[in-house]
Amino acid sequence: MDHFLYRDGALYAEDVPVAEIAASVGTPFYVYSTATLERHFRLFDEALEGMDHLVCYAMKAASNQAILKTLAALGAGMDVVSGGEYLRAKAAGVPGERIVFSGIGKTRDEMRLALEGGIRQFNVESEPEMEALNAVALELGLRAPITVRVNPDVDAKTHAKIATGKSENKFGIPITRARTVYAHAAALPGLEVIGIDVHIGSQLTDLEPFALAYAKVAELTEALRADGHDIRRLDLGGGLGIPYTRSNTAPPLPTEYGALIRDTLGHLGCEIEIEPGRLIAGNAGLLVSEVIYVKSGEDRDFLILDAAMNDLIRPAMYDAWHDIIPVIEPKPGAAQQPYDIVGPVCESGDTFARARMMPPLAAGDLVAFRSAGAYGAVMASEYNTRPLIPEVLVHEHQFAVIRARPSFDEIINRDTIPEWL
Ligand SMILES: *Cc1c(COP(=O)(O)O)cnc(C)c1O
Repeated sequence: MDHFLYRDGALYAEDVPVAEIAASVGTPFYVYSTATLERHFRLFDEALEGMDHLVCYAMKAASNQAILKTLAALGAGMDVVSGGEYLRAKAAGVPGERIVFSGIGKTRDEMRLALEGGIRQFNVESEPEMEALNAVALELGLRAPITVRVNPDVDAKTHAKIATGKSENKFGIPITRARTVYAHAAALPGLEVIGIDVHIGSQLTDLEPFALAYAKVAELTEALRADGHDIRRLDLGGGLGIPYTRSNTAPPLPTEYGALIRDTLGHLGCEIEIEPGRLIAGNAGLLVSEVIYVKSGEDRDFLILDAAMNDLIRPAMYDAWHDIIPVIEPKPGAAQQPYDIVGPVCESGDTFARARMMPPLAAGDLVAFRSAGAYGAVMASEYNTRPLIPEVLVHEHQFAVIRARPSFDEIINRDTIPEWL
């Protein structure tokens, strides 16, 4: 559920007409709904009620400071995957003890940054990383709290580019080697082993892969405890999928996911951590764009938008589907026609949808991409010297630009000319 609905024939973001935002900030832009972000965070928080838990928002999904502050105010922790994200979380007021550091390639500088600034735990993904973290922690006279990310060799049944839990993926250590690796970790004086971490992929639309992975984690918890490790925290990753289209069967709800966690791991008495990203931000954001031209082709019509693959790469990168809706509500039973919906970038990959059924549209009309809140703005680039597009946050009847569109001068002046030119 989200808060982008038609009202009196026009699309609203909460209590603000989307067309009003477009008139104020220009297109294209991203717009997020505070109520939707809050609702999605609370769904997870409530799903784990009764268990000692922390919901750590995977901020790589959408990391604007205003989004982080909105979630942090509800008690969210943050899952970060770089030193930059760590600093973003701190800047949004999240205390170190609510920040988890994930990622397979943490540098020594990033480790130092987090150890000095305070960190809940590092999710360590390899033995070389373990050695490096041990060295950095000892240098600082600290002990780094860690979990080890295990790769349970489970098929997440999602797009290949976002599956992370099979043995051929680069993530984590094979679960079959876990006892050896934990013994190694326990022997390093700069590390404090506190738990286990697992994250099998993103956009999972079925609970079964989670069930398989969590059963393996339960088994491993018992085995590691028997080996003498104090396993007291389980980080179960993120990955719960969202409905990208209303015509598909809906993915499982956070409540069902929470029940699965309780059933598979509740008896262990561990503190539970989860790292949802997409489900919190995905349906809390729209990408709004204007039709520049309607071009009639031989056998199809093209809607040429002012948004492009550099603004929203998901269709090009993951073959992703986004519902695209007109900002003026079509009349019930209005005629529809197929369009190829494309951006202006000089690549055929800059295609958002093919033969998409839409009501007839004309130049100047506004359209909104639904479910664009996660892995949208954060993955944008300035390819073709197209400025990063603004982000707007709505709260009831108010809206604010939370990242402004840069000017062309700002973009050009980021380059510097060597003295020989
Ligand atoms: C990307 C990622 C997440 C979030 O995944 P979603 O599908 O957005 O919920 C959580 N944990 C880790 C380690 C990740 O890399």
